[in-house]
Formats: sequence, structure tokens, C-alpha cells
Amino acid sequence: MGDNIFLKIIRKEIPADIVYEDDDILAFRDIHPLAPVHILIIPKKPIASVASLEAADGPLVGKMFLVAQGIARDLNISEKGYKLLIRVGRDGGQEVPHLHLHLIGGARLTENIHPV
Ligand code: AMP
Repeated sequence: MGDNIFLKIIRKEIPADIVYEDDDILAFRDIHPLAPVHILIIPKKPIASVASLEAADGPLVGKMFLVAQGIARDLNISEKGYKLLIRVGRDGGQEVPHLHLHLIGGARLTENIHPV
């Protein structure tokens, strides 16, 4: 797998507004936020997308969702709600080939998923 912008953020080669980090997971604010809260939760392990997950990655993916839950609580958007989004591959609109979970909230969100 080649290099990409999220691997550079993991290696701290380029800056990011990090809101959570542990040995397995990094979470940082999206550079082009779609809402007041827009955070990307990524595994440190280089996984290109949901399409390339292996059975052994199950606990790591589960942890990504638990981290999202915790960040939402910390930012006080848990009760009002939020959107979690994962794009997969070209037709899914995935731009960065490193698995990432979007946590989007802080405002009432409209549906905005149309075929191209
Ligand atoms: P996706 O379209 O699901 O692959 O989402 C990629 C996301 O990464 C987009 O929402 C971008 O705004 C975001 N993004 C790209 N480069 C950066 C960066 N350097 N720091 C933070 N977010 C980024």
C-alpha cells in the first residue's frame, strides 16, 4: 500500500487538530468540515478501506466506533445526535485510501448523498 495524507498525519509529518489518540487510533478535525463538529477517526494500522478489512480487524473497527461514541460525549453532541459515515472506494466517494470514520454533528444534518 502506498503512502497517503493520513499516514503522514499518523507519523506527525503534517499537522492535524488531534482530538484523541491512543496506540491504535487517531482522531482529528476534518480540514473541510461539513458541520460544526466534523472529526475523522482512523486506525493507525494501514488499512485502505472497509473492502480490505480482515477478520482480525474486527476489534479495531469496534474500537473506532467506541472512540466516536466517547468523542461525541466529550463534545456534548451525544444527546442531540450525529452522523457516522464511512465511504468505500470510488463509487462510495472515498478520497483518501486509508480507512476513516467521519463523525459529523453539532447541527441538524440534511441528507446529502446523491448518485453522481
Ligand atoms: P473521504 O471523502 O470519505 O475519503 O474523506 C476524506 C476527508 O479527509 C475529507 O472530508 C477531507 O476534507 C479530509 N481531509 C483531507 N486532507 C485532510 C487533512 N490534511 N487534514 C484533515 N482532514 C483532511
